[in-house]
Amino acid sequence: MTWAVGIAALVIGILAGHFGWGRSWRNPLARLHPDYLTGLDYLVNEQPDRALDMFLKLMDANTDTIETHFSLGALYRRRGEVERSIRIHQNLLAREGLASEHREQALLALAQDYLRAGLLDRAEGLFLEVSHVPRLRTTALDALRGVYERQHEWQQALDVYRSLVRIEAAPPPLVAAHYLCELAAEAIERGDADAAGRLLREADLEVSPFPRAALLAAQLAERSGDTDRAVRLLREALGLAPQLMQQELPHLLRLVDEKGRQLLLADLVTQSSDDADALKRFVFSAILAGQADAPLLRTPIARVVAADPTLCAVWRATPDGQGPGPDEVGRVAHEIGALLANAEKYRCRECGFGGRNFYWHCPACHSWDSFETYAIVKLG
Ligand SMILES: [Zn+2]
Repeated sequence: MTWAVGIAALVIGILAGHFGWGRSWRNPLARLHPDYLTGLDYLVNEQPDRALDMFLKLMDANTDTIETHFSLGALYRRRGEVERSIRIHQNLLAREGLASEHREQALLALAQDYLRAGLLDRAEGLFLEVSHVPRLRTTALDALRGVYERQHEWQQALDVYRSLVRIEAAPPPLVAAHYLCELAAEAIERGDADAAGRLLREADLEVSPFPRAALLAAQLAERSGDTDRAVRLLREALGLAPQLMQQELPHLLRLVDEKGRQLLLADLVTQSSDDADALKRFVFSAILAGQADAPLLRTPIARVVAADPTLCAVWRATPDGQGPGPDEVGRVAHEIGALLANAEKYRCRECGFGGRNFYWHCPACHSWDSFETYAIVKLG
């Protein structure tokens, strides 16, 4: 309904522009060409493509309608009807005698259409072209940065970021730090420790301390055989970003021997015991890391279960309804583990996208650092 009203408003705008309504109110309907009334009729009868054909004919007749057509194009794009917005903008660009500012605006709009349609190469070319126009530079460069992010072209994304810094229009340094970490991760992957180290030092200049850089530095330390440093860096990363606990605890536990493991678990219990959320996050992570039977975890598991109504239901699910004794904490922990294994564990705080995997860059809304632990156990 809102869409129909929006279109109707635009149609009126186009017709008003075409016939100079507002300048002259003398019986304008009498001057309407039958084509436009037919166009309106198609629209009313939900034949948007035929309606669009009619509106595009209008544009050939009158330059006053150009802004209205930009609005119509943007409206189609927002609705996801990208083919129609592309048609509108291509039609504008094909026009002879189009003023240069309108041509540039149409190129930018067409680039945005291509981006929305997932035609990234075409979008990239047009954003690059428009980025030379001073008044559109910031918008074009920022969109180009998004294109490179989606293509995982991290060096190009970083270069565009630096261009945005020069015109004081860059997003927060956190974004550059992530680009540098993406590049460092690629360097680690191809075995180039020197390049990875250099990139992590660069990331440190953008944001410090930075948990992702600490994680990657831990990987580098582990590969070079410096386990103590790897453990220290991993713990630093977990301290900075507790949401990494579920993903990184198994790794951390593998790095230490049995004695070190007990010390580490005891330390993490102490660290999280004052905060119910932190304790729950740690207990769930420890269960998933295969520590359901660890004696050190009995009391923390019992505390977490007692504080959670859903887990209490699991706890009491014995034939006599009395609940298990303290020696059965392990059984309950294993049941929680089975529930957690299939649970959604993370969720993007910006758009709500969730799943079992952790992402630094949300695959849905492309926000950085927006994933949070979402470990609510659901029964059934
Ligand atoms: Zn998101």
